[in-house]
Amino acid sequence: MDKKKIADLLFPNLKWTTEEIEAKYPKRNLTSEQVVSRYAPSPTGYMHVGNFFQMFISYNLTRITDGRFFLRIEDTDSKREKKDATKVIYEILSKFGIKFNEYQTLDGEDIGDYGPYVQSQRVDIYKAYAKKLVAEGKAFPCFCKKTEGKEDILKLREQKFSVDDEKEYDPCRDLTLADVEAKLSEGLPFAIRLRTKNDGTQRVKFYDLIKGEIEAKANSKDFILLKNDGIPPYAFAHAVDDTLMGTTIVVRGEEYISSTPSHIELFEALGFDKITYCHNPLICKIGDQGNRRKISKRLDPEADMRYYFEEGYPLESVLEYLLNIINSGFEGWRSKNPTLPWQEFKFGVNDITTVAPIFDLVKLGDISKNIISKMTASQVYDNVLAWAEEYDNEFASYLKENKEFATKVFNIDRETPKPRKDIYCWKMVKSYFDYMFSSPSSSELSEEDTEKYQEFIKEYSKDFSLPETKEEWFANIKVVAEKLGYAVDNKLYKANPEAYKGNTAKACEFVRLALTGRKNSPDLYEIMSILGNDEITKRFSQV
Ligand code: GLU
Repeated sequence: MDKKKIADLLFPNLKWTTEEIEAKYPKRNLTSEQVVSRYAPSPTGYMHVGNFFQMFISYNLTRITDGRFFLRIEDTDSKREKKDATKVIYEILSKFGIKFNEYQTLDGEDIGDYGPYVQSQRVDIYKAYAKKLVAEGKAFPCFCKKTEGKEDILKLREQKFSVDDEKEYDPCRDLTLADVEAKLSEGLPFAIRLRTKNDGTQRVKFYDLIKGEIEAKANSKDFILLKNDGIPPYAFAHAVDDTLMGTTIVVRGEEYISSTPSHIELFEALGFDKITYCHNPLICKIGDQGNRRKISKRLDPEADMRYYFEEGYPLESVLEYLLNIINSGFEGWRSKNPTLPWQEFKFGVNDITTVAPIFDLVKLGDISKNIISKMTASQVYDNVLAWAEEYDNEFASYLKENKEFATKVFNIDRETPKPRKDIYCWKMVKSYFDYMFSSPSSSELSEEDTEKYQEFIKEYSKDFSLPETKEEWFANIKVVAEKLGYAVDNKLYKANPEAYKGNTAKACEFVRLALTGRKNSPDLYEIMSILGNDEITKRFSQV
């Protein structure tokens, strides 16, 4: 009876009882195949690729099973929270085209019947459950000053309460009604702690969709359910929200496995059905010593989702890359179905990787090159411009003023049966095609080559006019080359290289260098056609 009285003393005027709350969250009317899952970011002003990876797994499981996907903002840690951080989350997700069935709009309107979808607006709900647990003797108020962290417990342990290594019983668990009354009348703030039913000797088993059966030491710690500001830490909010909101699979990173025994005890204490967990491996990188390490915000710029916007990766390539590491079957599917949208790709929980994927920017680049190679020149133009408008104003103005020319540049070796796969992000376009947008800076050649180079260009540029066809153009180069002592028959050249200044390839290299400053470039004749006679002549004159 005291327990109930304590509960009433602690929470005298709550809006609802748990029965009333549960009546507002009816069971979802879905089949057992339809997955209900969520993305539950904490608004820290930053989105980690590992977090996005978990989100994307969740999203796909719900998409493929025609289930429900909702966004829950976990803003209970005000210390970590940053201004506008929720907006950042929405912006990133919407740029990636990730849609939720249920969420709260930035104006605070809940879309869906299981809201509010922002945890700070659910405090009355958490309190109702905390009160219920206190009334049942499964939780108790804790008046210790520092209710978070271990230090207080450790100190108090030494002082009066014996807490052995196996269990971490909190000193306040045995307060009587009179104690509680006295402390409350002093106006002391209180936290609520779970009264663990375990003593450190029990074990718990649970099934994880990725890891299989896991056995671990059961929780034996009186951990915090509500902090003394009435806000729950992760565990309590997770148990209450995922149950009320009807989550069927909790998709989260494997760093949560170690705390799962405490979540399990909490679900039991609350009288909730067990929930299914899908703990996924964390994305890794190969460290300097060839070791596997977790991808890190500090060491790896690609850990921050903003990186992909800044570099200008087509967002579809990031999603396809992630699908590729979620399920290695994606690559085969993609090569069999080169034109289908990735949304057609289906996989189940059993197909999700069980080993920690290694994040590989080269692979992402290859996927991206492939995707960009299928775009038309005008799609490339639109994308590069959109990127430049955000990150490179000068280039954006140039592109706007020279739309036709730029589109032609982007069409080099494109819109052919075997388009060139060279560009992987929009940021690289400016330097990749720098010679098209301005004269190349000087090229590095040996002294001997420089002489030959200048001699060749001088001769070749005399009365220069670009021929109508590639064949004629090539023939002209050969004429000049032969005149200056280059071999136009490669067999002859190979047999006696000393007898010549070089071969036709060398001659072409000189022309390429004069026009692009590079030894390699896309099709030279095409480049020359786009540059036009005036620009070509100008560049030749600068050699
Ligand atoms: N807010 C938690 C996080 O951002 C959510 C974890 C979960 O998905 O349950 O890590």
